[in-house]
Amino acid sequence: MPFSLDDLPIRDDLRGLTPYGAPQKSVPVALNVNENTHPIPEDVARDIVEAVAQAVLQVNRYPDREFTILRDALAGYLGHGLTRDNIWAANGSNEVIQQILQAFGGPGRSVLGFPPTYSMHSIIAAGTGSTWIDGARDEGFTISPETAVAEIRRTDPDIVFFCGPNNPTGTPLDLATVEAAYDATDGLVFVDEAYAEFMPVGQPTALTLLEGRERLIVSRTMSKAFAFAGARVGYMAAHPAVTDALRLVRLPYHLSSLTQAAAVAALSHADEMLAMVGEISTQRDRIVSVLTELGYTPWPTWSNFVLFGGVDDPDDVFERLLERGIIVRNLGIPNHLRVSAGTEAETTAFLEALRDIRLSS
Ligand SMILES: *Cc1c(COP(=O)(O)O)cnc(C)c1O
Repeated sequence: MPFSLDDLPIRDDLRGLTPYGAPQKSVPVALNVNENTHPIPEDVARDIVEAVAQAVLQVNRYPDREFTILRDALAGYLGHGLTRDNIWAANGSNEVIQQILQAFGGPGRSVLGFPPTYSMHSIIAAGTGSTWIDGARDEGFTISPETAVAEIRRTDPDIVFFCGPNNPTGTPLDLATVEAAYDATDGLVFVDEAYAEFMPVGQPTALTLLEGRERLIVSRTMSKAFAFAGARVGYMAAHPAVTDALRLVRLPYHLSSLTQAAAVAALSHADEMLAMVGEISTQRDRIVSVLTELGYTPWPTWSNFVLFGGVDDPDDVFERLLERGIIVRNLGIPNHLRVSAGTEAETTAFLEALRDIRLSS
């Protein structure tokens, strides 16, 4: 056997684990990791390059460790009376989550989550030595307030993780569930709102619950609606004391000056950056109706993707789509596949290929 990580003196609790593994394949139609498949507008790109160029001229210096201008911009974007003191950012919301678990989780502490949910939540728990606990959902991937409270009583976690709208199901999270969970625990309650911008217009998000709840954290990302996945910018809103806790564990200067400049420039064009959200939601709704027509069972979705059941052999359909240059996500949920809403052309390519596959099987 060749030398492998098992032969290294690695932490016992990491032995046998598998890393995050969404396949990265170069195919014409990539609808597998819920990216925004619309590139950012060229005039915005030019502004970002200009801002980065300015930042490069001072790259001999460490960046603003407090990323103050970026926090101001993020607070302004979120609204809800939030100020820079409520905001924290990092290289993707994944890093925010890692910092949260470094500060509030760790060995001897537990995190309750509700699978199927975002796989990185349990992977980051493992990486920080926190114990991950599977909570049970209700029918249709919902979590009622009663169920959340019962699961908290049953497992007595230090931290409760929600994801709303939930990945990989796309289904909404009831804010009453977040409120009930908060009241049922002395620990932290964390809500991952990576897909908030795709919610129906006017729906309240967990940001509306922050006032008066010092142990509640709501995270967001620029990776999805903002079409900024490659730049790695995620953030959260919470009581200022939470940001003080994260300062204890973050690496100094964790957000490079280039990242800060790019993100601030992008946020100054928030309207243009988000212009595609409506179009993406239209394609998502089109996916739901065509899948239904083809006899599949898509779940209700408030995100930029659709989880659908009624797939007899997900491995086979995945491969046959891939042969046609289209990649979707097979998450191992029996008889299900997940597809991200793409541009109109990408969505059409997916739907036509799937129709072909359906009719020929
Ligand atoms: C895509 C996604 C993220 C984004 O992570 P980043 O590190 O910000 O790119 C976070 N949470 C969920 C649930 C996601 O699906």
